[in-house]
Amino acid sequence: MKMEERQLKPHAIIIPLPHQGHINPFINLSLKLASNGFAITFVNLEFIHQMLSKSHHINATNEFDLFAEARKSGLDICYTTISDGFSPEFDRGIHLEEFWKSMLQNFPARVDEFVGKTIKSDPYLDSFLVIDTFFSWASQVAEKYNLVNVSFWTEPALVFSLGYHLDLMKENGLFPLKDNTDKEINYIPGVQSVHTRDFMRYLKESDFATLSNKLAFMTEVKKADFILHNIVHELESDTISALNKYQPNYAIGPINFVKNSATVHKSLWSESDCTHWLDLKSPGSVLYVSFGSLVHTSKCVIEEIAYGLLLSEVDFIWAVRAGIVGSADTNGLPDGFEDEIKDKGLIIPWCNQITVLENPAVGGFLTHCGWNSVMESLWCGTPMICYPVDFDQPINRKLVVDDWKVGINLCDDTSVDRKEVAEKIKYLMGETSSKSLRQESNKVKETLRNATEIDGSLERNFDQFINDLKEKIH
Ligand code: UDP
Repeated sequence: MKMEERQLKPHAIIIPLPHQGHINPFINLSLKLASNGFAITFVNLEFIHQMLSKSHHINATNEFDLFAEARKSGLDICYTTISDGFSPEFDRGIHLEEFWKSMLQNFPARVDEFVGKTIKSDPYLDSFLVIDTFFSWASQVAEKYNLVNVSFWTEPALVFSLGYHLDLMKENGLFPLKDNTDKEINYIPGVQSVHTRDFMRYLKESDFATLSNKLAFMTEVKKADFILHNIVHELESDTISALNKYQPNYAIGPINFVKNSATVHKSLWSESDCTHWLDLKSPGSVLYVSFGSLVHTSKCVIEEIAYGLLLSEVDFIWAVRAGIVGSADTNGLPDGFEDEIKDKGLIIPWCNQITVLENPAVGGFLTHCGWNSVMESLWCGTPMICYPVDFDQPINRKLVVDDWKVGINLCDDTSVDRKEVAEKIKYLMGETSSKSLRQESNKVKETLRNATEIDGSLERNFDQFINDLKEKIH
């Protein structure tokens, strides 16, 4: 791409959160913007770049470039990395809190310097920022360099709306919340009803000052020029319409399944192949189990789920990553479990989840309800058993089970019991028992597929965003 050509295009500096569930939506948003004539500078953290290089088996002599393919097809995407200040050996998953503290306190100066240099070296570009909403410092960088600030939210609009209306909840005397009390809330614009028992754990902070400090990103996002949401408009239309009264919000999901431009799924870990194993199983007979890339649970929970799976006699694939029980060198499974399951189950550390869910043999998903996992399951019309652990997952569960009726709860409280696990699995995988869940799942699947059509909500909202953005930039 000649510099003169690049200079004519609006230029997005894009910075995702360094977690698996944020990387792919940001990659696909970048591809979509590039296919609409934007120049992109995609900024990955160095350790994420190293993980991607390793998981895609690229050696040092053949440097990994996330967007090499896209560039070959004419898209204008620069790929670059920036350091988070930690050594490559530092285990960011295990020391998540320390890592995050630094991402909010020390990392902004690095971004500031990077953005300053980028703009200086390309003075003619109309640059703007596209930054993950969780990075509360985005508005300061945008203000300093006078850049249009686009915030990208990769969780449900309901989760966004709760954080956004923190002050309203305070005015209504909601805080401090106690873990064991439950209140129904029906005063949040665009949200018919939500129970505090389903709140994200961080909203259950007893001290309001600590809470609003943790949610500083929700105050900062109010300064954004545009907010993009990786949600499907039809599924959360009231919530997004209500938010639109304050700022321009656009539902541009499911961004990982965009139809009319290329999409990419990149794993941070090597993917084990499950296709051979799955192809020997009959349609709809296999339960897929995964708790995503981040959460930790106890050895006891892993054990109850393991024996629950055996008791259910249902075939299963379990992507159980080392580190899930908090120690990097174990996956927490009971000793001898992998020998016990014989060909009833396949245990792997990581897989290509979408490929697994798309396989006709898979008939159900036992999930921690990470937002990407939920969207992928909805996309495939696969009903879920929900075991939310942290972050947005309890709210996502509410959407899946209570609102859209495409899933069931694994257990009603935090205790997980193998007999209950087995019963829930049999219910979900049983043809008769799960009939209505499957019908609803198919309806929601249709909604997602329609959203990605040429005249679907994703495309319409994306076009609207681009028009509004161009107007603002020029
Ligand atoms: N994933 C995957 N292989 C696995 C487990 C998970 O590719 O073995 C992907 C999954 O497809 C999803 C992401 O990892 O896109 C996890 O994101 P999610 O929001 O569901 O959960 P998080 O990891 O953020 O808790």
